[in-house]
Amino acid sequence: MNMANTMKSTLFKISIRELETKKTSFDITENAKNLGIEGKFSSINVKGSFQIKGRKVFIFGRMIFDAELLCSRCGTLFEANYTHSFKLVFLPEDKRKLDEFEDADVFYYGGEIIDFADHIRDFVYLSIPIKPLCSVDCKGIEY
Ligand SMILES: [Zn+2]
Repeated sequence: MNMANTMKSTLFKISIRELETKKTSFDITENAKNLGIEGKFSSINVKGSFQIKGRKVFIFGRMIFDAELLCSRCGTLFEANYTHSFKLVFLPEDKRKLDEFEDADVFYYGGEIIDFADHIRDFVYLSIPIKPLCSVDCKGIEY
């Protein structure tokens, strides 16, 4: 049984009702494993704010975390700090067909709850370099 990528996080949820009343900001720290992220990661800290305009919801955030990665040149394990700023736009599901064009940066929510844990996990992967380097001038393995 493969339990990798099992999402257990329940922290990145906001209800429309909360947004309409008082909630305008968040500061969430979640264990990487709960987000379905494999590998040597610290907890993921995400700070940001919510904005609601009609039924359109904006989430502005900035994440910070440490990861232990393998240098793509010399093969050394090294730890580095990563940050990523993002903006998410959510529209209610019933607005989907009314959109004149499909915007890749717009997401949809059904019901009254927005769960953006999937997006947070994707942003973590996006913020890691495809070819990590232990230092900018890593010479690689010298023979
Ligand atoms: Zn290196």
